[in-house]
Amino acid sequence: MAKLLLLPGDGIGPEVMAEVKKLIDFMNAHGFGHFEIEEDLVGGSCYEAHKVAITEPTMRKAHAADAVIFGAVGGPQWDSVAYDVRPEAGLLRLRKELGLFANIRPAICYPALAESSSLKREVVDGLDIIILRELTGGVYFGEPKTITDLGNGQKRAIDTQVYDTYEIERIGRVAFELARKRRNKVTSMEKRNVMKTGVLWHEVVKELHAREFKDVTLEHQLADAGGMQLVRWPKQFDVIVTDNLFGDMLSDIAAMLTGSLGMLPSASLGEVDTKTKKRKAMYEPVHGSAPDIAGKGIANPIAMLASFGMALRYSLNMGKEADQIDAAISAALAQGLRTADIKSAGATVVTTSQMGDAIVGEMKKLAA
Ligand code: NAD
Repeated sequence: MAKLLLLPGDGIGPEVMAEVKKLIDFMNAHGFGHFEIEEDLVGGSCYEAHKVAITEPTMRKAHAADAVIFGAVGGPQWDSVAYDVRPEAGLLRLRKELGLFANIRPAICYPALAESSSLKREVVDGLDIIILRELTGGVYFGEPKTITDLGNGQKRAIDTQVYDTYEIERIGRVAFELARKRRNKVTSMEKRNVMKTGVLWHEVVKELHAREFKDVTLEHQLADAGGMQLVRWPKQFDVIVTDNLFGDMLSDIAAMLTGSLGMLPSASLGEVDTKTKKRKAMYEPVHGSAPDIAGKGIANPIAMLASFGMALRYSLNMGKEADQIDAAISAALAQGLRTADIKSAGATVVTTSQMGDAIVGEMKKLAA
């Protein structure tokens, strides 16, 4: 039995999470798995109830769950609440306390959506790559991080890019293990030509490969050249592993390859617990709470549903069922069904719930 904590959050979060619940109910009823779910508040909705962005009991449940399934947080009504209880504080606390250092973002281009990409069909059609971003180190967290008044009318800003061997090694290990279950290729991206962290990154990944993962093909690219290759011919990649800063940018570039924000799932993984052999993990769509469309029932639930699919793949050892969810999404799109964000000429525009029903309907066909 899998224990899941659902945290729908704010805005369209609860609307897209409702489709995950629909899918879970179907899977429980039809022998696709046995999920026990708990649901709690996070973000602005938690602030309204408890004056904090996440409560202690919810954090305890997150630690105890096999996986946390997260919707989205935030909205203009909480723009002026105190910094430490703002909606995003709930998300950041979860990431920090669960030690989620590995952020997996697949960029998959469903054939039916190849026309929505800004690139040519042949460049993106059938694309299936992963950007693996280091999430807890690097320049976003390194100290010193200051702005100093130099007293002569000038100020000086400092950010520190810092990586230790263990941080590079553990993200490298996730990359090689992911690749082994896919097309067996890792591309490591850094800037060793101008950055010391790049020199160490390159060295540690290379040594780890030689020591433990010789069966996987390893390539190194400078991150700027890698960005160019990502839009030139993205199908050359399988798993791209990179640091926090480059990963932030490269994953957004990869996002555009696939069309819409409403299509993009993500997973964030922590260390493997030596006793239980399990990882702490959280799964969430890349998009935010989309206040502009919240409450209208038109949000695209695919990023959320695909995030649940990633939980099956990476936390619950249910790769076959994860493949079935991906196939059901692909089939619903191939029927010509589109939420408003991905609509195209000749397609049928559907609501959030109709898209969820269609995907569950395709799962039913797979079960038959
Ligand atoms: P957003 O991702 O919420 O929305 C950007 C645009 O994409 C909007 O036009 C929105 O309507 C559209 N969009 C997003 N998801 C969609 C979906 N599933 N279906 C259809 N259209 C979709 O980003 P934003 O507008 O910059 O931020 C809105 C709020 O969300 C802010 O409060 C921000 O802080 C928060 N946010 C939260 C997260 C998170 O919870 N992980 C991430 C990003 C932003």
